[in-house]
Amino acid sequence: MSLTDLTLAEARKKLRAREVSARELTEAHLRAIEALQPKLNAFITLTPELALAQAKAADERLARGEALPLDGLPLAIKDLFCTEGVRTTAASRMLENFIPPYESTVTAKLKAAGAVFLGKTNLDEFAMGSSNITSAFGPAVSPWQRPDDPRPLTPGGSSGGSAAAVAARLALGATGTDTGGSIRQPAAFCGIAGIKPTYGRCSRYGIVAFASSLDQAGPMARTVEDCAILLEVMAGFDPKDSTSAEEPVPPFAEALKRSVRGLRIGIPKEYRVEGMPPEILALWEKGAAWLETAGAEIREVSLPHTPHALPTYYIVAPAECSSNLARYDGVRYGLRVPAEDLTEMYEKTRAAGFGAEVKRRILIGTYVLSAGYYDAYYLRAQKVRSLILRDFTEAFREVDALLTPTAPSAAFPLGEKMDDPVTMYLNDVFTVPASLAGLPALSVPCGTDAQGLPLGLQVIGRPFDEEGIIAVGRALEESAGFAARPALAAQE
Ligand code: GLN
Repeated sequence: MSLTDLTLAEARKKLRAREVSARELTEAHLRAIEALQPKLNAFITLTPELALAQAKAADERLARGEALPLDGLPLAIKDLFCTEGVRTTAASRMLENFIPPYESTVTAKLKAAGAVFLGKTNLDEFAMGSSNITSAFGPAVSPWQRPDDPRPLTPGGSSGGSAAAVAARLALGATGTDTGGSIRQPAAFCGIAGIKPTYGRCSRYGIVAFASSLDQAGPMARTVEDCAILLEVMAGFDPKDSTSAEEPVPPFAEALKRSVRGLRIGIPKEYRVEGMPPEILALWEKGAAWLETAGAEIREVSLPHTPHALPTYYIVAPAECSSNLARYDGVRYGLRVPAEDLTEMYEKTRAAGFGAEVKRRILIGTYVLSAGYYDAYYLRAQKVRSLILRDFTEAFREVDALLTPTAPSAAFPLGEKMDDPVTMYLNDVFTVPASLAGLPALSVPCGTDAQGLPLGLQVIGRPFDEEGIIAVGRALEESAGFAARPALAAQE
């Protein structure tokens, strides 16, 4: 089998058995990137020298028998994580030349665990989007293709570059961030697995902020096991993030061995939305049947405030974004467009630095937070958010996890759904409720549509029960046996 086709778990075994070196593994991935990056635009910045230096250090440790948990494993890092000395753009002109003087906690943990960093992956600008089209560096492209349609497909968003890189075998795994679905939806579109952990599970320190009460880092990889291995390193309390949770990090990969026998799985009836393709409905039913066969009990549950989740999200997220992005004023760091006076400098800098979607959200956010409208919009949205959380809390009295589709469609061609932002926002219908409630959720590739494009199922769990969703996700993965390969995967 080729080196780029190994799972992260398999590669780790081979490294430790000295059947392959970190250098060989890294070089294989760098060659794959060289071949496919021009087509996929999955990376904004490549770091081959850093990768080879890290691989060398890993090989030395491996030779001494002192392997670290992720020693020598090549990963891709979403370009929203600050990396010391390596340009971090958030896919924005505003940060086009920003070289952080410090490292995010999550990437610092990955580095300290011996991982190899191949480069920084493409995303929607400041992680705002579902298709990568808002990237100032041009969209990442999905390695998947429809058989009779040459139009390039979206890898999803915002972590589309990470998803494309992992699906195309350019990296063994990647980091993503998820504010309203940005790990799960691109994972589903690209036929890989992704976990959005419980809010507070992974430190937000050093991640470019979008909506601070929603942002969470998480792993993306080709198997649930690989995600579990990565999450174990990424997670953990961090005094540098005031919302980081003081929860012990369990050995997540152990949960893969758990049976789902006796678990109660809820099917939220409000997720049967109008206009959902019959294939997705059918896959959802299949998923429930697989879990039932594995010994779980399927129950219908109700999450009555689900229809309010999208409007709530699209008030809360822009509100927080408008406040977070106020820091890009041309004074402290990032782009500055010189002007006659300070106000004009602010205006010119922000006009030039932000793209249309980011500006739209700043405007909406500023509006819903403004005196006179705050109570009607922001405060009301916060109240609805509590009701959405309460729905989940009640449901989790009856069931142990929830099963839903990840997205209401398979990947669409780049350029579609682009004329009206609301159409794009609808893509997040199944992912935003768990984000608003801060719950852990994962997406598992479970099948393909009639055109051969991947479809994912989502498992949502109780707060800090990542182990539960990993166990259910693994059961789904086992039954689905998803083995489809994207058209543009690395060959070696
Ligand atoms: N698609 C959603 C948005 O545009 C979610 C993005 C995210 O999770 N970062 O806000």
